[in-house]
Amino acid sequence: MTQEPQPSATASLPSALDPAFEAAYQAAQKSAGEGGIPIGAALARGGVVIAAGHNERVQKGDPIAHGEMSALRAAGRQKSYRDTTLYTTLAPCAMCTGTIIQFKIPRVVVGEARTFGGEFELLRSRGVEVVVLDDQRCVDMMQTFQANNPDLWAEDIAEDDKQD
Ligand SMILES: [Zn+2]
Repeated sequence: MTQEPQPSATASLPSALDPAFEAAYQAAQKSAGEGGIPIGAALARGGVVIAAGHNERVQKGDPIAHGEMSALRAAGRQKSYRDTTLYTTLAPCAMCTGTIIQFKIPRVVVGEARTFGGEFELLRSRGVEVVVLDDQRCVDMMQTFQANNPDLWAEDIAEDDKQD
């Protein structure tokens, strides 16, 4: 039994091999390119991407259009979500967590939870499997966005009382 050490340089390797996570990441990048909030998501079934989407608060003036919500909207009606995985570049907020629970999506793969903690406890308490990739690209993307757009970020996570 040989346990290889995990150098930080390879931390993003598993996600880079997952086309569904890449779809979520590319959607986030697309949003960033449009001046929007760089959070993307994708819904997959059996490793095949059904649809991807990104936060559209800026692009459409839609406060409910978080990345996860946009991906689920783009996926359209699904008879069942029980065999699906939702990928997202950032830990899901309470709204998106509620939707994941409501749709009975059994598994969520998250790019990172360092810049926003999300609702992992609630997800796990409802039996949802949560996988955190800790993808450095996602951390960098959000840190850059949050530093350059503090007001827009506070708006998206409803932290309007934040004084800084
Ligand atoms: Zn959300």
